[in-house]
Amino acid sequence: MKLNRLVATALMLVVVGVVFAATPKYIFYFIGDGMGIGQVQTLRTYYQNLPEEAPDAVTHFYEYPVMGFITTYSASDDITDSAAAGTALATGCKTRNGMIGMDADTVALTSIAKQMKAAGRGVAIMSSVCIDDATPSAFYASRPNRGDYYEIARQGAASNFDFLAGAYFRDPYGVRAKTPGNVFAEYEAAGYCVARGCNGYETAVAEGASKVLWLDNDTTTENRIGYAVDGVNGDMTLPQMVSCGIDFLYKKYPKGFFMMAEGGAIDHMGHGNDPSGVLLETKEFDAAIQVAYEFYKQHPRETLIVVTADHETGGLSLGTELNSTPSLNYVHYAQMSKGDFGAALRHLLKEKGKSVAWSDVRALMSEKTGLGDKIAITAGEEGQLMMIFQRLLNNRSKNIRTLYADFDELTNEIFKLYSNKLGMGWTTSHHTGCPVPIFAIGAGAEAFDGKGWLDNTDVPRIINKVSGIKVK
Ligand SMILES: [Zn+2]
Repeated sequence: MKLNRLVATALMLVVVGVVFAATPKYIFYFIGDGMGIGQVQTLRTYYQNLPEEAPDAVTHFYEYPVMGFITTYSASDDITDSAAAGTALATGCKTRNGMIGMDADTVALTSIAKQMKAAGRGVAIMSSVCIDDATPSAFYASRPNRGDYYEIARQGAASNFDFLAGAYFRDPYGVRAKTPGNVFAEYEAAGYCVARGCNGYETAVAEGASKVLWLDNDTTTENRIGYAVDGVNGDMTLPQMVSCGIDFLYKKYPKGFFMMAEGGAIDHMGHGNDPSGVLLETKEFDAAIQVAYEFYKQHPRETLIVVTADHETGGLSLGTELNSTPSLNYVHYAQMSKGDFGAALRHLLKEKGKSVAWSDVRALMSEKTGLGDKIAITAGEEGQLMMIFQRLLNNRSKNIRTLYADFDELTNEIFKLYSNKLGMGWTTSHHTGCPVPIFAIGAGAEAFDGKGWLDNTDVPRIINKVSGIKVK
């Protein structure tokens, strides 16, 4: 089976190996972590159902003229993780789950970003989650284990890439790695200006930084810049990072630039089965791509925008067993992510102690999700929640563990109900093996067209091909 796939992949590479006329100078590579066709169609349906008084005039990435699907399986698993998928999208090679920038035999690979840099182009790598996360790190690092955060961060310093931006590092001082050090000192020694938050970035630019490492300044949310649904003010946003990345590279590189921007938190929200979280995170990703689209409109013959995903997360469907008429506008009632709701519930229970009543929890739920207020719930649905509330009070409820957050049973049940009201269904809190969509517009975009199913390894190879950069 695996062999057949390899043969199929090799055949696809032969098929795509034709010559293309348009050569992109400015390349945008957008990767929505966990963004399958369910996530994209949910966003599309959401926009299609906006009230008429808010006409939707912008071009969304899913409207691009070229689109297709890519398979995502890794060298070791039918269902990939972000490390193997990121490696495939960055290098054009399959690897085993858990590995970064190395093939299945642990031979280091040269990413498309490194090849672009070697060819004299500016390079920007950015993410709405940590910069040492699997997807961004696959573009600058090679490690047998995606959890080698300290070594991954150090390889970022050695990358010589112009612009690195994201939430933070998971092990900047080598504590987890048990090799004490300081990656920030290494970045500075390598000529980077290390900037924290928006003000820090502005100062770095004003002082003429030649290379920049731009990190969030909110230390309470170290593994992300802040979720779109939580609307954290003052934090960096992905659209802002894309905009700053363009400004940073455009004048400096007459040969053009390569930018990889990851919408990393779509995956976090998918793991948590947080419906409004996923929709708003995908919307934010779309907003970041629109910044590149504005640039494309000014340089249409020289710009290529490619939008895809590393894998799907959550098994998201539009429509559920209980609701086949989605009401995605309910997403506007969401005041916070599922994780923050769980924290607010814990806080309420602690504050009220033994005197806590269902009406207190119901008020919190209505305020933060609209359930039982703007979104009608039946007596049966409320009864189910009340039963779990009693179990929680009696310490008989179970905790639900997911990759990025643990949820109490009541929070989980409230968000299950909220998902049903929105009409968004889940099959898993993990990744799925479903193919993911790919969209392209601009110079060289036609190279992705009419090829039938592509594989994730085809994407960087096609980008390299149309850019006239030799595939190593
Ligand atoms: Zn994931």
